[in-house]
Amino acid sequence: MRVKKRSRHRKAVKFYSTCFGFREPYKVLVDGTFVYHLLTQGLLPADEALRDLLSASRTPVLSTSKCVLAELRRLGKSHAHCFDAASLLATTKCEHEKVVSAVNCVLSLIGDKNPEHFFVATQDADLREQLREIPGVPVIYGLKNSLFIEQPSVQQRKFAQLDEEKRLNMDISEYKKLLKAASEGKTADDEIESGGEQHKRSISSLVKNALGVAEKSKFKRNRAKGPNPLSCRKKKPKPQSSGAQDQGPKADGESKRKRVRKRKSHKDNKQAEAAN
Ligand SMILES: [Zn+2]
Repeated sequence: MRVKKRSRHRKAVKFYSTCFGFREPYKVLVDGTFVYHLLTQGLLPADEALRDLLSASRTPVLSTSKCVLAELRRLGKSHAHCFDAASLLATTKCEHEKVVSAVNCVLSLIGDKNPEHFFVATQDADLREQLREIPGVPVIYGLKNSLFIEQPSVQQRKFAQLDEEKRLNMDISEYKKLLKAASEGKTADDEIESGGEQHKRSISSLVKNALGVAEKSKFKRNRAKGPNPLSCRKKKPKPQSSGAQDQGPKADGESKRKRVRKRKSHKDNKQAEAAN
């Protein structure tokens, strides 16, 4: 189950990075309900818990907003520990001169298209429902002592497809170029790593922006590359060793004798050295 959960989360993160351009370090916009959940369930340190959830190589940046903090403060002493913990996080600037509710503040920070690429972490079911209708907003929530990423909604998947189709229709000639580049994608990437040419760098970045295509081809290559050579290498030695077992006792005996001889010769040398 754990492996399934992890791979589901990875797929979700991959979806948002491929279709909406999410990049590490990921930004996680946290509201008061989520901070409360983290504290009561002991999911600390929170940034490590979220890094694990997102399978991220870099620690994600957790942030709140002025309005979220104000709402926590308004809850008084019972939620003072939440306010203290939340005030240690980074504060994303919102445009509210007068403080608004945390829900409205989060929604305004996300806007129509989530341009800042926030993951939103909240326990508020209503807010989660509203966020599902906005394309490109991954939602994180907790159930007891484990965290989850909501799978991209049907609307989000449709939007991603529409967006892709639009792009394909807009620049067909460019897209053909990108396909060519994608087929050479791996070598281009390798050259980039070893300090390759600049225009190849720009091609690869375009390929990555061309939704899905390059990423999908990469996936296939990785799958073919990954397990097969390793399993083959491990299997090959076995028949050899079984063949050796057929002639086993002789070969072993010979090798043992050789070893003994070597040891003797070493001893002889040492004795000789000691005598000298
Ligand atoms: Zn605000």
